[in-house]
Amino acid sequence: MVERKNAVVTGSTSGIGLAIANTLVEKGCNVMLNGFGDEVLIEREIAEFRNRYPSVSVAYSPADMSKADDIAALVAEAEKAFGSVDILVNNAGIQFTAPIEDFPIDKWNSIIAVNLSAAFHSIRAALPGMKKRNYGRIINIASVHGLVASAQKCAYVAAKHALVGLTKVVALETAEHNITCNAICPGWVHTQLVQKQIEARAVSEGIDEKKAAEELVGEKQPSKRFVQPEYIGDLVLFLCSEAGSAVTGAPINIDGGWLAQ
Ligand code: NAD
Repeated sequence: MVERKNAVVTGSTSGIGLAIANTLVEKGCNVMLNGFGDEVLIEREIAEFRNRYPSVSVAYSPADMSKADDIAALVAEAEKAFGSVDILVNNAGIQFTAPIEDFPIDKWNSIIAVNLSAAFHSIRAALPGMKKRNYGRIINIASVHGLVASAQKCAYVAAKHALVGLTKVVALETAEHNITCNAICPGWVHTQLVQKQIEARAVSEGIDEKKAAEELVGEKQPSKRFVQPEYIGDLVLFLCSEAGSAVTGAPINIDGGWLAQ
């Protein structure tokens, strides 16, 4: 269902976004990658995609998802390169943890910008083309923190709850255009974003990182296992499938039981 479709996956230079891009490219979908990181490593990643899947187009944009103009330019660039944006995955995200009274204002602003406003800007830019072609799959990578809270994460939880709300509004506004908009809500996935929290926990509790990772997952996620990034790629594929066309406006948790509690 994604073969020869065209996708933009924001924040796809690492973690969940890279896994989603991988899944899409594997299935023959052209992908515009985006995100920060070491230029040489990014170039290598793109070259690897092109070697493994020569019939698929893979492009890259360094657009900064905290900047409205960059985001509009990213969508325009993808439309120009591929002819359309059929699948938009808003995945770029950042985290910072502190109690609210110590939470730096610049961290609040940047988390709201990247984890929430970026999705508004990209959807706003991509929708006219999707409506014109009467097809679109918009997938916002929210979090269990779009549905429940954890202490020390005021900006992240606020942004992800709002992203789930934005998802529902877009679903209502697009339901008759063969466009769906859903929010995937993962529990713990072992990526760079979470590695920082594991390291901080290891230091604050004086334990090794393995133990810190076990504690981190164990206290919220009943499965006591990280969700694998590829599983989120598979969920994206489902949302782009025929059956997925009936799913819209939904927060979908993939969380080892976190939200069952
Ligand atoms: P990650 O740190 O591995 O990846 C984040 C990606 O976003 C990277 O490619 C990074 O370069 C990019 N990025 C950050 N700021 C950007 C900016 N201003 N402009 C462009 N790109 C930017 O983290 P991840 O865990 O893979 O997170 C991906 C998404 O999944 C995030 O939205 C995160 O909130 C969400 N999520 C993660 C988990 C988890 O446990 N890892 C759980 C739930 C939700």
